[in-house]
Amino acid sequence: METVQFDVVIVGAGPAGCAAAYKLSGNGLKIALIDKDTFPRDKICGDALGADVTKQFHQISKSLTEKLDQFTEKIPSNGVRFFSPKHQKMDIQLSKPKNIFGGGFVSKRIDFDNFFFSETAKLPDVTVFQNEKILSVINEPGKIVLQSATKNFEAAIALGADGAHSILNKKLTDNKVEKDHYCAGVRQYFENVKDFHPENHIELHFYKEILPGYLWVFPLPGNKANVGLGMLSSVVSKKKMNLKKEMMRLLETEPTLKDRFKDAKPLGEIEGFGLPLGSKKRTISGDRFLLLGDAAGLIDPFTGEGIANSIRSGRFAAAHVLKAFKQKQFDAVFNKRYDEHIYSKMWNELRMGHTMQKLARYPAIINFVVKKANKNKSVQTLINSMLNDMDLKKQLIKPSFYFRLFFS
Ligand SMILES: Cc1cc2nc3c(=O)[nH]c(=O)nc-3n(C[C@H](O)[C@H](O)[C@H](O)COP(=O)(O)OP(=O)(O)OC[C@H]3O[C@@H](n4cnc5c(N)ncnc54)[C@H](O)[C@@H]3O)c2cc1C
Repeated sequence: METVQFDVVIVGAGPAGCAAAYKLSGNGLKIALIDKDTFPRDKICGDALGADVTKQFHQISKSLTEKLDQFTEKIPSNGVRFFSPKHQKMDIQLSKPKNIFGGGFVSKRIDFDNFFFSETAKLPDVTVFQNEKILSVINEPGKIVLQSATKNFEAAIALGADGAHSILNKKLTDNKVEKDHYCAGVRQYFENVKDFHPENHIELHFYKEILPGYLWVFPLPGNKANVGLGMLSSVVSKKKMNLKKEMMRLLETEPTLKDRFKDAKPLGEIEGFGLPLGSKKRTISGDRFLLLGDAAGLIDPFTGEGIANSIRSGRFAAAHVLKAFKQKQFDAVFNKRYDEHIYSKMWNELRMGHTMQKLARYPAIINFVVKKANKNKSVQTLINSMLNDMDLKKQLIKPSFYFRLFFS
């Protein structure tokens, strides 16, 4: 077995791993970026990249944001169309970040991740290893050793950016999969779905049977669409639901969908994957390792968005690693500062997502808000501003908001 030595080994070349590698580059460190697959590789996802993704790119590098702007396999989308259980719809226009390129967009992950990976692989101090699955992790005195079938990777510190089934999380922490903090999702691509919003708003459809989850229909370039269903795993188990069947049933029978899908052609199979939700704080570091992105469980519990937070955690992990090398400290006590930093920056928003997810269990609340917004333009403007502004957003989870709405 060949042994290769690096300063930092990053396991997983999805958004979290690439962000960490990109941000670490140029600091005199020898970096390995390892993935079990060969790019371009698919990742089961809704493919919706909110404006925060562009913001995170901008925080990594201005030139990378310019390249993202020129990346063509995407369509811009800066709005959300909500469908209530009573089939009423509400359009919300989301604001674009100021002074930087673009905003939100939809792009197949096979394309977007390949773009990010290819840009990262060009960095001279990042060595990429594809088709190299890490099978075990051992903490040895003075180093961490990660083993694939053919190599021992040795480093001062390892970053687990290896997604929802992270090997580093499994081997190095006591974190368990808890169904109340985990979501099950299925996705299928379609061609020729009709009647999207003219500005490519992504669509979230709330139906009584699947709350607090939703069915999504997201427009893609080339008259294609990403269609999927996500539900809390504890509810899936309790109701003994088959998500694939449920998705097809909704597409065939619901009045807001069936005509639009009549001539649509499914492309490929329906596939499923898990979403570790950030509704619970987890252990995300220890001796000589940090966890990033889905491996750390940082997905918004209400929207299911995880790409922006994965990139954000990659940035924070890189900043922490640079401090660790400066101070020559890689132990669990020092690395705990990474956990504290992540949660000090992200917990408020994750907690809010959790509260919204709990509210979304009640069809009456969604019906009521959408009905009010449709009747009263100022209510819609208010909800628009709330979803665009973090401070105002806090009002959405307060009972006083719904009380005022009742009398509006
Ligand atoms: C059905 C579904 C719909 C979603 N929809 C959206 C959405 O619309 N918008 C959004 O923002 N988020 C969405 N998400 C969440 C989003 O996909 C994730 O949050 C995001 O991909 C996390 O990025 P990551 O880099 O942490 O992990 P990943 O993107 O999962 O990348 C992990 C990488 O690690 C590699 N890897 C894994 N194990 C090993 C190993 N042992 N050795 C080497 N390499 C390994 C994998 O091959 C992979 O390339 C969705 C998720 C699901 C499941």
